[in-house]
Amino acid sequence: ISQKELENFKKFIDEADTIAISAHINPDGDALGSALGLRKSLELYGKKSDVIKISEVDDYLNFLPQIDFYKNPSKKEYDLFIIVDCSEFDRIDKAIEICKKSKKVLVIDHHEGGSIKTDLNIIHSDSPASCELVYEIIKRLKLPIDKEIATLLYAGLVTDTGRFLYSNISELTFYTAADLYKIGADFEMIYKNLYQNKEISKLQFENHLLNKVEFKKPYALVGVSQKICKDFGVQMGDSESVVNMLRDLKGIEVACLVKEYGENEFKISLRSKDYLDVSKIARDNGGGGHIRASGFTINTDSMDKAINIMRKILEEAIND
Ligand code: 5GP
Ligand code: MN
Ligand code: MN
Repeated sequence: ISQKELENFKKFIDEADTIAISAHINPDGDALGSALGLRKSLELYGKKSDVIKISEVDDYLNFLPQIDFYKNPSKKEYDLFIIVDCSEFDRIDKAIEICKKSKKVLVIDHHEGGSIKTDLNIIHSDSPASCELVYEIIKRLKLPIDKEIATLLYAGLVTDTGRFLYSNISELTFYTAADLYKIGADFEMIYKNLYQNKEISKLQFENHLLNKVEFKKPYALVGVSQKICKDFGVQMGDSESVVNMLRDLKGIEVACLVKEYGENEFKISLRSKDYLDVSKIARDNGGGGHIRASGFTINTDSMDKAINIMRKILEEAIND
């Protein structure tokens, strides 16, 4: 983050009386961690802000401190609108109306290839998590931080780095984790809630999906229907573990989930390991993300068709 970006951030905050924060739709740990962590820091600094709820929170994240601040907005427009963990207006879904009416817009994000036009972009795709960027801003501007904020930021850091394993982590990531630890981030509580709290039904759901995977080295592909989720009593978000498991297999470079979100709406999750840039595949198909994790939507009328389309996309990308 450049000095100029920091100074502008501070100026924007200081000049705003009303502030809104929005992360992307279907928020993950990094989206909620960075939005709620920034909100509390700004509040302690003397600036109340609203974190705008744009979708339901998946059950596995309901343990996060401050989660009740993810709620319907109190105003229709704000002096400053902050977007975190995405760099596209359509990814903030219904908050876009409020965003458009707000006087100034700034973005804090780490996704690949964003070309969003706002008043201030703090976009660093070499960063592994938006929470790392939010922490850097808080630290260098000496904004307030406490145990809850540290816990939120640590949660985002842990989830977006795959527990400090993915290739986009850096020295700074470990320094950030060390700082957050020192401030009192409740890493054990995070660990227990995220990784030692799996319902047996979820394991059975994973087992069911794993049995349906099409393995065609170097890719693995599987569809997740609404019905399967209902049968096992899980949420679509619970399938993320499966795409990661597939990516981790020997001989598999890219893993893909085709998730049925609605009639004609199939959301794709891609994960790669060594060489395939899945952010490019996603961008070519109207989505986005990171080099090793990305997503987009296919609109077609059946799971079979969506899988066929996806198989073709994967084979083309691999043969390139
Ligand atoms: P996931 O597979 O967890 O849904 O998404 C992986 C990554 O790709 C995340 O960083 C997410 O923000 C990004 N991503 C997923 N779906 C979309 C999409 O439809 N559009 C964009 N721009 N990014 C997406
Ligand atoms: Mn995210
Ligand atoms: Mn993120």
